[in-house]
Amino acid sequence: MCSVIGVFNVPEAAKYAYFGLFSLQHRGQEAAGIASSDGKRIHIAKGRGLVTQVFDEKKLSKLMGNSAVGHTRYSTAGEDSVLDAQPIFARYDLGQIAVVHNGNLTNAKVVRKELIREGAIFQTFMDTENIIHLIARSQKEHLYDRIIEALHKIEGAYSMVLLSRKKMFAMRDPHGFRPLVMGRLGSGWVVASETCAFDLIGAEYVRDIRPGELVVFEEGEEPRSIQVFKPTPTKCIFEYIYFARPDSDIFGKNVYKLRKAMGRELAKEYPVEADMVIPVPDSGVAAAIGYSEESGIPFELGIIRNHYVGRTFIEPTQEIRDLKVKMKLNPIKEVIRGKRLIVIDDSIVRGTTSRKIVSILKEFGAKEVHMRISAPPTTGPCYYGVDTPTKEELISSRMSVEETKEYIGADTLAYLSISGLLRSVGNDLSYCMACFDGNYPLLPKDK
Ligand code: AMP
Repeated sequence: MCSVIGVFNVPEAAKYAYFGLFSLQHRGQEAAGIASSDGKRIHIAKGRGLVTQVFDEKKLSKLMGNSAVGHTRYSTAGEDSVLDAQPIFARYDLGQIAVVHNGNLTNAKVVRKELIREGAIFQTFMDTENIIHLIARSQKEHLYDRIIEALHKIEGAYSMVLLSRKKMFAMRDPHGFRPLVMGRLGSGWVVASETCAFDLIGAEYVRDIRPGELVVFEEGEEPRSIQVFKPTPTKCIFEYIYFARPDSDIFGKNVYKLRKAMGRELAKEYPVEADMVIPVPDSGVAAAIGYSEESGIPFELGIIRNHYVGRTFIEPTQEIRDLKVKMKLNPIKEVIRGKRLIVIDDSIVRGTTSRKIVSILKEFGAKEVHMRISAPPTTGPCYYGVDTPTKEELISSRMSVEETKEYIGADTLAYLSISGLLRSVGNDLSYCMACFDGNYPLLPKDK
């Protein structure tokens, strides 16, 4: 998972990109970068860490010009090194370009191999670099035609923004796995992974970039839309469940509202007698409010989150993951002691978090712990840009719900059903739910 932003025809574009990325930080905390164009040259700065760690006033002031693209990185393809931070920048026969990409390409290895055989020298391990090579090697005269040609050679998930010295291009794959929204900022334009970026910088949402669409931004002209591919939407439902910020509207709907609806459905499907509903913060909060409203059982904050710890999921070793759950979450003993708790989280991946939470809650005196998960069991990996571990590491691919309940030590455990999830999103069938139902819209060509 990652975030992208593009700002076009706005004075001090890099500063807007910076603030936009700040509000998209939840989509990736490993690295951040911005490239800007002053019309003659592209300037770039990127590095490891959070947006506020990578940039300061001095660095930003060097990113001159009225257009910029930016990225926050959460590694799914490539290695965790500064070389693998985006934007990717290149000089080629038509000038200079910078690319930012959210999503994973499913034929990246095949394309990369071919390019290398033809003599391309890769600088990074990221699948995004394929696009740069494809554009640079194309024989077409104009960048626009080269982009279209490159898009026909890649498959998979991409919400992508490309900056040249004078233009900006925003595009989304035909499945539209990842979100990409477009808005107005003064007399200029912005595109971003989520609308929460618009709110911060004062941009006004106009519409989503459509699946299979390429939008070209050029000075003095209205954005030009080209439907490169027929849309076959299978948008990532996990964006609604976990990834996106609740204050964002993506795929045309508000995330918070849908999360609450998931909680409500969960309460209808799996009611249980209890004294209070408590969320695992922050991921379970909206669903817990929905569960509480539907069941009439009071909502309480029984667990407090320390916000200065990164997401536990990112850590490589099991020992550190265990410790980090405790560093991150601590119960309010006064609230939970002697109580029957319904604990809501959005997902169980390896089972580490839930197991720790149940054990901490019991240690501090909870009488009963009923885990309720506002999504179906995660049984398969994602090939489209969500960092899920291998199938073997996913607890739900190895264990039944009953066995998982035993493993995490809860009194009861239940997951929202697939039909319940669908009801929460208005029975709209244009979503990818492959991590829950195994129906992969595209299979990786090289796995
Ligand atoms: P685990 O401890 O492995 O079972 O992870 C479950 C926790 O990780 C839940 O609290 C989720 O909110 C969160 N989570 C689920 N998917 C992801 C993901 N792809 N990246 C980071 N965190 C996640």
